[in-house]
Amino acid sequence: MTKAFGYAALGSATPLAPFHFERRALRANDVDIRILYCGVCHSDLHSCRNDWGNARYPLLPGHEIIGEVVALGPEVTRHKVGDKVAVGCLVDSCMRCDSCEAGQEHNCEQGSTGTYNGKDRITGELTMGGYSDHVVVREEFVLKAPHGLDLTRAAPILCAGITTYSPLRHWKVSKGTKMAVVGLGGLGHMGVKLAVAMGADVTVITTSEGKRADAQALGAHDVLLSSDRSAMKAASRRFEFILDTVPVAHDVAPYLRLLKPEGSLVLVGAIDMLPTFHTGLLLGGRRSLSGSAIGGIAETQELLDFCAEANILPDCELIDIQDINMAWDRMERSDVKYRFVIDMASLNKDRPTD
Ligand code: NAP
Ligand code: ZN
Repeated sequence: MTKAFGYAALGSATPLAPFHFERRALRANDVDIRILYCGVCHSDLHSCRNDWGNARYPLLPGHEIIGEVVALGPEVTRHKVGDKVAVGCLVDSCMRCDSCEAGQEHNCEQGSTGTYNGKDRITGELTMGGYSDHVVVREEFVLKAPHGLDLTRAAPILCAGITTYSPLRHWKVSKGTKMAVVGLGGLGHMGVKLAVAMGADVTVITTSEGKRADAQALGAHDVLLSSDRSAMKAASRRFEFILDTVPVAHDVAPYLRLLKPEGSLVLVGAIDMLPTFHTGLLLGGRRSLSGSAIGGIAETQELLDFCAEANILPDCELIDIQDINMAWDRMERSDVKYRFVIDMASLNKDRPTD
C-alpha cells in the first residue's frame, strides 16, 4: 500500500475536505500515476451529494485525470516512467464480454469499474478518484496524452469531451448536419467545439442570455434562449440532432418539437425521472429519444489524438483544490467558463510541514 492524499466527502451534506487514505500496492499490470490536473465534472457533485442514491463514503471524486507515470508493475508494457498519461471515468471492466470486445468497456455486461465510487474487481475496495495526489490504474485503462496537447487544459476531454464526442460520432454528425446543443456548460461547450470541428451547423439552446456571445465565440452559428417561446416556436422542426446536457430532470417536449422528421434527441445530462410527455411527439415524424454515457477506451484515445491534432481544448478555469467547494457552488449556478480544472500541485499547501 502507498499513502495517498486528496479531498473527499464523508457524507451527502458535508463539504469536500482533506482526506488521507491508501492506494493499493502495484499489481503486475498496474501503473502508478502522479496526478497533475483533474477536471471538475457536474457528476462529481451529483455523486457526493448522493443525487443518484448510490454514493459510498468516503467518496473521493474526479474522473478527468492528467498525470505522469511514476512507477510500473513488472508486466506493464504499454507505458513507461515519465510518460504523460490520462485516466477517464473507467479503471476496469471484465474485458471479455461482447461489449468489452467491441471497445465499449463502459457498457461491460458485468458492470465496468468507475474511477471513483466503484468497487475494485479483485479486492472489493472502494475506488478513489482524481482529486488526489496519485492513482493506481490497470494499464489498459491508462490513456496516452498525445505530444503537443496542452496538459493544463486537457483534463475535461476525459469526460466532458468523450461524453459529447461519442454520440456525435454514433449519430453520424458531419458536415452540414443541422444540430443543437442544450446547456452550455462543461459538456455543452465541448459538444459545440467538437461538432463545429466536424463541420456541423450548430445552435446553442441556453437558459442564460449572457452566454450568447460566448456560444458564438465557440463557433455556434445560432443561439436560442429556451425561455423565448416565440423563438422556440420559430425553430420547430429545425434540427436533425439535439444533444441535451441539462443536469436535472426537465421537460423534453420543447426539444422534441425542434426535431425534423427522423431526428434524434439524445440525453447525456439528467440521470433522473423525466416528466411525462405526449408520445405523439415521437410517433409523428418517427423521432427518437435516446441516451448516451461516456465512451470506450479506444474511442477516448481517438478523441485525445483528435483534440491534439485539431488543437481543440476545453475552456478552463484553473483552481487550487482549496477552492473546490466554492467551485462546486459556482458550477451549480451555471457560473463557470466552462470547466474548472484543479491544479493538483496545490494539494501541497495542505500537507503538514516537518
Ligand atoms: P455543467 O457544467 O453544470 O453544465 C450544465 C449546463 O446545463 C449549465 O451550464 C446550464 O447551461 C444548463 N442548465 C443547468 N441547470 C439547468 C436547468 N435547471 N434547466 C436547464 N438548463 C440547465 O454540467 P456538466 O458537467 O456539463 O454536466 C451536465 C450533466 O451531464 C450532469 O448531470 C452530469 O452529471 C452529466 N454527465 C453525464 C455523463 C454521461 O456519461 N452521460 C458524463 C458526464 C456528465 P445554460 O446556462 O447554457 O442553460
Ligand atoms: Zn464526468
